[in-house]
Amino acid sequence: MQNEWSELELIDLFAEKAGSIDKSAVLKGIGDDCAIFRGIDEGCWLITTDILVEDTHFSRAWHPPHLLGRKSIAVNLSDIAAMGGKPRFALMSIALSDDLDKEWIDKWSEGVQEILSEHKCALIGGDTARGSQLVINIVILGVAPDDQIVLRNAAAPGENIYVSGPLGSAAAGLEICRQPALFKNFEKQALQPLLDSHLNPEARVELGVLLGSSGLVGAMQDLSDGIATDLAHICDQSKVGAEIYGERLPGEDILEQVCLELQMDATYLKISGGEDYELLFTVRQGKDEELLNFLGDHGIKDIHRVGRIVKGKGVRLLTEHAPVDVAFQGYQHRGSG
Ligand code: ADP
Ligand code: MG
Repeated sequence: MQNEWSELELIDLFAEKAGSIDKSAVLKGIGDDCAIFRGIDEGCWLITTDILVEDTHFSRAWHPPHLLGRKSIAVNLSDIAAMGGKPRFALMSIALSDDLDKEWIDKWSEGVQEILSEHKCALIGGDTARGSQLVINIVILGVAPDDQIVLRNAAAPGENIYVSGPLGSAAAGLEICRQPALFKNFEKQALQPLLDSHLNPEARVELGVLLGSSGLVGAMQDLSDGIATDLAHICDQSKVGAEIYGERLPGEDILEQVCLELQMDATYLKISGGEDYELLFTVRQGKDEELLNFLGDHGIKDIHRVGRIVKGKGVRLLTEHAPVDVAFQGYQHRGSG
């Protein structure tokens, strides 16, 4: 059954929601064959894209459309943040399946627009088609001064490794959505941080810009696949190794209890759970205190030292047991097979 919307009608809806754009930068937004924006005098453009495919990257069964709209953008903003950039423009291309009704699309696009305006990022174009499955592809353009861009390839031995927030939350939140019956005796409020992390992740844009501008950061990336994998990318690109301190990995208070219910090891979830969208970065040797003070002056206190960069290669997890190589994977918990 075809639902009661036309592509043209939807484009009008998106254009209307896109609201006002900064006319000094954007000469033409939605409405012509191409969008037109001016070049910038200083700094570089950063450009990133992500694709979200229904039932692979999200499930409509539990994801409210408004929050899915926010997340569609947040995962891209996170990539801009991970290089120290500020988001400026967005393009959104979507294939919409016939079972989507106008109300769902409306709520989804409100979520998109809400987060874009929070970040002063203008929607300047896209494409809209019908498809057999819901597919969402977002492109974000951001800007950063040349000397404030942080890459993955600049970590050096002796640098400490930090994360900007709790780990494993989004993976736990996803499991709660998948298996709600397991958690019916939990207080909803206690589970909320985990659910929020999965359903409505925050991109750490402000922090990314601060870290870039500090000049004190070695390498950085966002945590999309879990620290075991994401840190392995930094190590590969920087030609170094890393050690992670299992005991120091931050997690929400409720995580241990949730993991008991899931019969999963909490440390395993923290190192291998994806989609936390926190920042992972190294701090230039001897500059830790300076950076912590700088961040503290900007009201940011919740960053956690979780390891250090060493010579060699690979990522090792240090716990009370023998070190385990965890690069690009989770680690097999003792006793769990
Ligand atoms: P064309 O046939 O030239 O690709 P379209 O009819 O697809 O033009 O798009 C018309 C205008 O609407 C363009 O400016 C395009 O960028 C914009 N647009 C289409 N789909 C979207 C969308 N999903 N989000 C934002 N803008 C869109
Ligand atoms: Mg088109």
